[in-house]
Amino acid sequence: MAKIIRSQRIKNARVQALSKKSAAKTSAKKPAVKTPARAARKSLKAAKRWTPAEVREAFTRFRKANPEPKGELEHLNPYTLLVAVVLSAQATDAGVNKATRALFAVADTPQKMLDLGEERLRDYIKTVGLYRTKAKNVIALSEKLITEFGSEVPRTRAEIESLPGAGRKTANVVLNMAFGEYTMAVDTHVFRVGNRTGLAPGNTPLEVELGLEKVIPSEFMLHAHHWLILHGRYTCLARTPRCEVCLINDLCRWPEKTV
Ligand code: SF4
Repeated sequence: MAKIIRSQRIKNARVQALSKKSAAKTSAKKPAVKTPARAARKSLKAAKRWTPAEVREAFTRFRKANPEPKGELEHLNPYTLLVAVVLSAQATDAGVNKATRALFAVADTPQKMLDLGEERLRDYIKTVGLYRTKAKNVIALSEKLITEFGSEVPRTRAEIESLPGAGRKTANVVLNMAFGEYTMAVDTHVFRVGNRTGLAPGNTPLEVELGLEKVIPSEFMLHAHHWLILHGRYTCLARTPRCEVCLINDLCRWPEKTV
């Protein structure tokens, strides 16, 4: 009896293995589903690259519409800008501003932040996502600024990136906004606009950053980051881009633009 049950089990296992194999074969043969996003990316790749004259035209229009674009993160000095950018990871600028207004009134230098202490800092920023980790980082970076940089925000990318909680994007924002360097910080908005328009397509923020730096004439680089962020935030929206009011809709290569 036991022998019969065993051979039945072996039989069942073989049948299961065979049906799995044939299922795998069938799915391997299936043609790739052509989703709209994938199709759009494909035709974007095939689209003509922007000419230097077109890039210049686009940024001339951005400049004309908003000659002095400003970042929306509130700050009082390079240090508070650095802290605000560190807090803004995966949070909105408006949410960060709400928390930092009161915080920066009592702690606008690394030493004052240390005097405030991690626990009280947490209270100020508890409405910002990941606030526990961010509070730790802000205290640690303030300590490092005091011990290694004479309480000043350093002016090189490598030094800023060495601070707890600060990455390449943070360094680019601080270098650009506090020190007037021609850097391109790529956040979610800049990444989307760089890809959609075809200005600087890339699979990673770094690819888009380097692509934008390559195509944008230097005369526009000081403000280019803000023009692209604001364009992504208020016009080229993620779900429903407002192509009908877009300043560069005739130049944009996005196959799904609505004009
Ligand atoms: S035309 Fe539409 S998709 Fe292209 S940049 Fe403007 S808003 Fe974005």
